[in-house]
Amino acid sequence: PNLINQIAAGEVIERPASVVKELLENSIDAGSTRIEVSIQGGGTELIRIADNGCGMTAEQLPLALASHATSKLPDDESLFHVSTLGFRGEALASIGSVSHLTIRSRTETDDCGSEINVRGGVIEPPAPCGCPVGTVMEIRNLFFNTPVRHRFLKTAQTEKGHIVEAFTRLALANPQVHFVLNNGDKLVHDLPVTERWSDRISAFFGGEIAESLIPIKSDDAQIRISGYVCDPSVSRGNARMQYLFLNGRHIRDRSLQHALVEAYRGLLMVGRQPVCFLRLDMPAEMIDVNVHPTKLEVRFTDGGRVYARLLQSLRHQFLSTDM
Ligand code: ADP
Ligand code: MG
Repeated sequence: PNLINQIAAGEVIERPASVVKELLENSIDAGSTRIEVSIQGGGTELIRIADNGCGMTAEQLPLALASHATSKLPDDESLFHVSTLGFRGEALASIGSVSHLTIRSRTETDDCGSEINVRGGVIEPPAPCGCPVGTVMEIRNLFFNTPVRHRFLKTAQTEKGHIVEAFTRLALANPQVHFVLNNGDKLVHDLPVTERWSDRISAFFGGEIAESLIPIKSDDAQIRISGYVCDPSVSRGNARMQYLFLNGRHIRDRSLQHALVEAYRGLLMVGRQPVCFLRLDMPAEMIDVNVHPTKLEVRFTDGGRVYARLLQSLRHQFLSTDM
């Protein structure tokens, strides 16, 4: 069974950042209001994620580690009908099969927490431990038993960059959660809960970007677009500063990127890229998802309409803004 989990891990867990993404999604699904991430050695030495979510009981812990055991059952084939981020029940089993994983967890109704250890897929029985309500996940020696994966790891600095990006996407999508990121003994981000999305954006991309955010808002019966674009005359952005969230999930979409470029046509200085932080919300029926374990490929049932709505709302905003 560990071989099967390792194969699954090969698809789900590409690098330390994949671990961080999966664990952050779990912590968000657990209803956490505070999540603290700590990494060492670009995540290959240590990834620790501590949350104050619902936690797990001693009985639930081994189940959480079994493959295809999920407590989140979708009522439909479509991912976008699922209100939780996780749904496959694969991540913890996969991570445990290629690392040394320790989980400490406690629910609100338990007086005492439980700890469970997994080493390369070998699960030890849970033991009682003291811990606050919530869950702490510690991953050490990632890929210690999968030499090929291990060899393909980049420098700690590069792996850290990927972790920061995964952290950024989830923290941008969830301003209702207090996020902290530590790299070694350095505090990288401390992002308190905020009701204003622009506060969270500014915390990541302060200065010039934060000062030139233009609000975008557009609603029709089905498609809701909200968020910010950057004033083209001052944006000094790159293509990585295009953040699109579809029903709360980060996506990349070529067609929507094209709508952005089109809206900015003639307004940007040479070599500059549009900067945007946009949330799109629409009924799940309008979204087709091709669920690949590592990336979300999204197709809209009426792609032309989504494209046109985005382009129109951006153009409308640019025309009405005095630049
Ligand atoms: P999925 O998220 O697809 O259900 P995972 O393998 O990521 O699968 O997690 C398995 C299960 O472990 C989850 O369904 C959840 O019940 C439990 N779990 C994982 N992380 C946490 C957490 N931080 N807090 C509470 N429960 C968790
Ligand atoms: Mg999950």
